[in-house]
Amino acid sequence: MAPKKGDVTEEERQLLSVICKGTIQEAGILLGSKDVRVNFLDEHGMTPLMHAAYKGKLDMCKLLLQHGADVNCNEHEHGYTALMFAGLSGKKEIAWLMLEAGADPDVVNSVGRTAAQMAAFVGQHDCVTVINNFFPREKLDYYTKPQGLNKEPKLPAKLAGPLHKIITTTNLHPVKIVFLLKENPLLMEAGALKKCSTVLDLICEKCMKQKEMNEVLAMKMHYLSCVLQKCSGFLQNEEDKLDDFIKNLLKGRDPDCFPVFQEKFVRECIRKFPYPEATLLQQLVRSIAPVDVGSDPTSFSVLTQAITGQVGFIDAEFCTTCGEKGASKRCSVCKLVLYCDQTCQKLHWFTHKKVCKILKEKREKQDLEDAKEKKRQEKLKAKEQIKPDDQASQTDEESASPFSQSATEENKETKEASLPTVENADETCRSPTASESEE
Ligand SMILES: [Zn+2]
Ligand SMILES: [Zn+2]
Repeated sequence: MAPKKGDVTEEERQLLSVICKGTIQEAGILLGSKDVRVNFLDEHGMTPLMHAAYKGKLDMCKLLLQHGADVNCNEHEHGYTALMFAGLSGKKEIAWLMLEAGADPDVVNSVGRTAAQMAAFVGQHDCVTVINNFFPREKLDYYTKPQGLNKEPKLPAKLAGPLHKIITTTNLHPVKIVFLLKENPLLMEAGALKKCSTVLDLICEKCMKQKEMNEVLAMKMHYLSCVLQKCSGFLQNEEDKLDDFIKNLLKGRDPDCFPVFQEKFVRECIRKFPYPEATLLQQLVRSIAPVDVGSDPTSFSVLTQAITGQVGFIDAEFCTTCGEKGASKRCSVCKLVLYCDQTCQKLHWFTHKKVCKILKEKREKQDLEDAKEKKRQEKLKAKEQIKPDDQASQTDEESASPFSQSATEENKETKEASLPTVENADETCRSPTASESEE
């Protein structure tokens, strides 16, 4: 018997206030009481799970789900679901949790909006990305069972978990996908990758042929399939565990260090999409075709925008190596490129070292000019006696360098230049895409 709206016991009301401002322990005790039903409805038809999602309380949501909260309860007066509340809260981890718990992303509220549309409406783009990129595990598990006359399943059961992780990634950078492969030894084998790639092609086909055609998901599956195929080729021929592939993807051309191979590879993946009539493909081609290799936007950013619905891509901070959002470390010498951590920086150094010093000089020149300009302004203002060039001239940039240790290393041939450290980025840092494009 479903609970009635507004039929709330004293302890249940207490639970709602604990969800807002109490502890997990308190909530746990209340949920253990026989007078507390986990799916009771308040006057507006909201369940405790909806409250917790709306308040952005991840741990509370987990606890409620453990206690059997119904993730698809749809008794709210305006037809809001827990996933919609998660989207409104802007907590992408909660949106993810709801989806993993089986939330149906296609449910619409009383004015016909899905959870993703509602999140987009209030500007919670991280949640939109999460919802759009979700692919339920059961849909993949289908391929782990033999179908029709086949005795063998298309996908060995042990590969379903690792492949699912790749399918649901929201970072489509090819280097990031290689990182994900390297995380799991089961995937570091040419034959396994071929099977995964075939299954991705089948899902792509299904997305295009089903009644509710999903071009976005189809493109994502196709793209991932291309990357895995390429990796499979590398694993077949080399014993290098994909390190050569990463190097190819990162290697920058002279003189601006633009990763040409990567750009061409992503373009090629898009071009090979097997449904030429698809609107999304035509849109992508229209955006990419007129752009010279080396100019903005990169095909990776165009593809990412199309698949994740992410806006403001250029403005956010992305790792130069793996494209991960929120990279917070910067090269301590040039201070112009961003990385997740030192691992990402190390991988990029072989090619970045060719331009690091040039970038540094450029930046210092700019800083110097800015400083001069500032001084001139001050002088004009205060009419004080300040020599405009007393601190540093453009010719002694080495001595002006604040990085004594790395700067000395830098003075050697760039070939031997050692890896600088990474430091925390400040607010003024620029996105790697933006700095590359200025060349
Ligand atoms: Zn990274
Ligand atoms: Zn640098």
